[in-house]
Amino acid sequence: MYDIIIVGAGPAGLTAALYAGRANKKVLVLEAKTYGGQIINTLEIENYPGLPNISGFEYATNLYNQVTNLGIEVVLEPVIRIEEDNKVITTKNEYQAKAIILATGAENRKLNIPKEQELIGKGISYCATCDGAFYKNKVVAVNGGGNTALEDAIYLSNIVEKVYLIHRRDTFRGEEKLQEELKKKENVEIIYNSTIKELIGEDKLTAIVVEDKEGNTREIPVNGLFIAIGQSPKNEIFKNIIKINDQGYIESTDGVHTSKEKVYVAGDTRVKELRQLTTAVSDGAIAATTAIKEMED
Ligand code: NAP
Repeated sequence: MYDIIIVGAGPAGLTAALYAGRANKKVLVLEAKTYGGQIINTLEIENYPGLPNISGFEYATNLYNQVTNLGIEVVLEPVIRIEEDNKVITTKNEYQAKAIILATGAENRKLNIPKEQELIGKGISYCATCDGAFYKNKVVAVNGGGNTALEDAIYLSNIVEKVYLIHRRDTFRGEEKLQEELKKKENVEIIYNSTIKELIGEDKLTAIVVEDKEGNTREIPVNGLFIAIGQSPKNEIFKNIIKINDQGYIESTDGVHTSKEKVYVAGDTRVKELRQLTTAVSDGAIAATTAIKEMED
């Protein structure tokens, strides 16, 4: 029996583990892939208070070490189900906890067009900092208008010959500072009001077909396409015990409690306004302290 099982070893989950571990609770962190969550793919974090210019990998590794140095177990086992009595079933084991914190984050959203799946790793990527180096002196496109797409386009412009940035509207949702930086890049062409309709190529991506709002299409030869159109959560498996909204985010009236007693939520996976590293770690701290307080009450 654990005091707290935390599902997800991103910044929210690991921060919850840190707070619970420091309160001498018996904690287990379960993670499907690897520690760090989405932040591990960020080349440089510039807006985390007090830690300017740290890489996502360094930040995540520091946090992971801080947690495991407390003796907390971080086990790589995908959770497949949680039962009514707080039994957590993974692909390998069953665990029981007095409280559960769900910090499952979100996954890269897909375009959901033909060939997207089969061309992953053959021209299609969801992580510019991971795969950008493969496209040195080549032509790539980035799709999206948020901070990730803007950062990806800037990062890639320093490696590749040319970047097309394709966005479905005529204004970006990403930060002004990034937009200004992007506009200074001579090898970035921005294509507004357009979406990607088709992917061309058999064994590897060779071109994309872009359609504007009037229905005009244009074929653009590219070696790579970086899809940065946001994230979507994966909480279907928890539907039996807690309320999930239409987009798959976990509902919470106060940002920490789910619809089930003793099951808490933290980080990007919950319904919230601002999904940032700062708000993720804040959620993790609040979820752990709330769970502990209610356990002791
Ligand atoms: P995001 O802010 O949700 O932006 C997603 C972008 O993709 C939007 O521009 C959206 O268009 C577009 N989009 C969504 N679905 C689409 C579709 N099916 N086809 C075409 N375009 C589509 O996602 P994000 O950029 O990954 O950022 C996620 C969160 O992390 C945000 O809160 C962001 O601020 C944060 N973040 C912060 C930093 C930083 O502070 N340095 C870096 C990266 C990310 P619309 O604008 O038309 O909706």
